[in-house]
Amino acid sequence: MKKEIIDQAEHVIAKTYTRFPVVITKGKGCTLWDTEGRSYTDFVAGIAVCNLGHAHPRVSKALATQAETLLHVSNLYYTVPQVELAAWLVKNSFADRVFFCNSGAEANEAAIKLARKYFKEKGENRRFRIISMERSFHGRTMATLSATGQDKIKKGFEPVLEGFDFVSFNDIDALQNKIDAKTCAVLIEPIQGEGGVRCPDPEYLKRVRQLCDETGALLIFDEIQTGIGRTGRLFAYEHFGVEPDIMTLAKALGNGLPIGAMLAVEDVAEAFGAGSHASTFGGTPVVTAASLEVVKVLDEEKIVDHCGKIGAYFKERLLWLKSRHESIVDVRGLGLLLGMKLKMEGAPIVNVCLEKGFMINCIQENILRFIPPLTIGKKEIDSLVDCLDEIL
Ligand SMILES: *Cc1c(COP(=O)(O)O)cnc(C)c1O
Repeated sequence: MKKEIIDQAEHVIAKTYTRFPVVITKGKGCTLWDTEGRSYTDFVAGIAVCNLGHAHPRVSKALATQAETLLHVSNLYYTVPQVELAAWLVKNSFADRVFFCNSGAEANEAAIKLARKYFKEKGENRRFRIISMERSFHGRTMATLSATGQDKIKKGFEPVLEGFDFVSFNDIDALQNKIDAKTCAVLIEPIQGEGGVRCPDPEYLKRVRQLCDETGALLIFDEIQTGIGRTGRLFAYEHFGVEPDIMTLAKALGNGLPIGAMLAVEDVAEAFGAGSHASTFGGTPVVTAASLEVVKVLDEEKIVDHCGKIGAYFKERLLWLKSRHESIVDVRGLGLLLGMKLKMEGAPIVNVCLEKGFMINCIQENILRFIPPLTIGKKEIDSLVDCLDEIL
């Protein structure tokens, strides 16, 4: 079966992805199984998506119940799970209002549109420029790739959209030199995910907030990867004592269901009036019902606390590895968003890990990234660390 599926895929699926030669059929908790009956411990979690692990019984049940009741009616009408999920997000964040969509790129697209609209409403028509960071990742739509600070993402799709500027991450002087009265927003990941698990200095985001306040620009946090408990707090901004005006979420919000959300404070959200922005599927009942159960489980099972503790343990174990192997240059990250920079390419190590039953991920050629379900335990972490120790 594996061979037929892969052969067929090579003929009928667009060639946009490089895939590992496995066909995954089933998951439970932190374990995945393939067509050959082989099992894998998952340190990728669908790219920081399945924070509660695979096939969580409560999420599956909420999904099934909603599927039997109502899948979709459009945003011409009110639906219960959408409102309840928005209320939870508002209660648990800095924000006052939520716009739902279906992916991270769409959430950032909404944030960019809202920031521009906010200043148009105030009559500041020429204030439309957005500053984002070198090595950032914000998505693959035209606006979000224009806001992304990596040339490889833009290559072949030029001309990119007008109005995007870049400065180096964690360099407050660079931002101070660039930001001015034409800047409508600074768009930033509190911790850069795809860019290599890069953490800012403790005071950096506070200074970014200050510069935004001084110049009147909005601050947008892209928490698509860092949000929903990944860093050991519900949102990464909580670590830094800074609140944005707008925040985007996606990935783990649905634990695998496609959902995105853009959250904003009242004064800014006001600029999105009736008819100004929309999404057919945004906040559809079946997805928001599952997502609502995800956040309830997160609360009731104290998953975020666990993530903080187990993440610290994991990092300690990676630092132990670093003390044993000169090929490890750096270990970094917060909670269960961890990166380990190597002197050599990471891909061969990822391949051997897969053969040995561990899924890990490599970014920026030489950085191994560990983003398991937040429910991961010490036993799984120790097994992976032993495996890496042996390979290195
Ligand atoms: C994954 C990601 C995105 C894009 O999300 P999609 O759902 O793939 O569109 C945007 N920003 C960050 C920080 C991400 O990690």
